[in-house]
Amino acid sequence: MSVLPPVRTFPVVLAAPSGTGKTTLARALVERFESLVFSISATTRDPREGEVDGVDYHFVPQPDFRAMVERGELAEWAEVHGRLYGTLRRTLEQASQDGLHVVLDIDVQGARQIQESVPEAVLVFVLPPSVEALLDRLTGRGTEPGPEVARRLRSALDELRAVPEFDYVVVNETVDECLTRLEGIIRAERHKVRRYPDLPGRVNGMLERIDTLLREKFSHAKYPDG
Ligand code: 5GP
Repeated sequence: MSVLPPVRTFPVVLAAPSGTGKTTLARALVERFESLVFSISATTRDPREGEVDGVDYHFVPQPDFRAMVERGELAEWAEVHGRLYGTLRRTLEQASQDGLHVVLDIDVQGARQIQESVPEAVLVFVLPPSVEALLDRLTGRGTEPGPEVARRLRSALDELRAVPEFDYVVVNETVDECLTRLEGIIRAERHKVRRYPDLPGRVNGMLERIDTLLREKFSHAKYPDG
């Protein structure tokens, strides 16, 4: 058994302006590290092509979503671009029981709620390398920016204003580099003293053991100057 007790796991919240590649990143992150699990949100928006219910999102009608809110089943929820999105409380509970870190791909309104209600959570903001890179991703190369792009850019303003509220920031230059940085953040966070509820007991055990050793085996030893 390691001298370090099992770490109390924590959620990792990723937020970013739309077009930063956050969802790709979140998915790649949980693929790469087996101690991480993706939080599948509930949403009232329609599935996009290729999206699978229960994999990408839990797609639910608005009345069902409202009922989940009423029953307190959501750890956070928000309206994003006119649709409702929320994180299931049981996903967070299950991850914690399983000793896993849950990765939340949510907007800044949701990130704030998690920061408030789950103080052990780690909030990471993912920045695009530049505004031009963001615009490129939003338009797709060669396409003229339309009203949808303008709407996303406007919402990017709100998201970016929230950066100072976050614990960490990473720039999404390449997915690989970004994953390495996120891994570094999670590893460092796992070594925070406060994440080990049983640590004081273990350290006390060490203190007592050293005390006993000193009494039983070293009581005859003289100090160099004594
Ligand atoms: P999309 O519809 O493009 O998948 O997501 C739109 C926005 O909603 C993204 O910023 C995404 O991170 C955010 N989002 C997805 N799930 C949740 C959630 O459970 N809660 C909140 N607050 N935002 C979410």
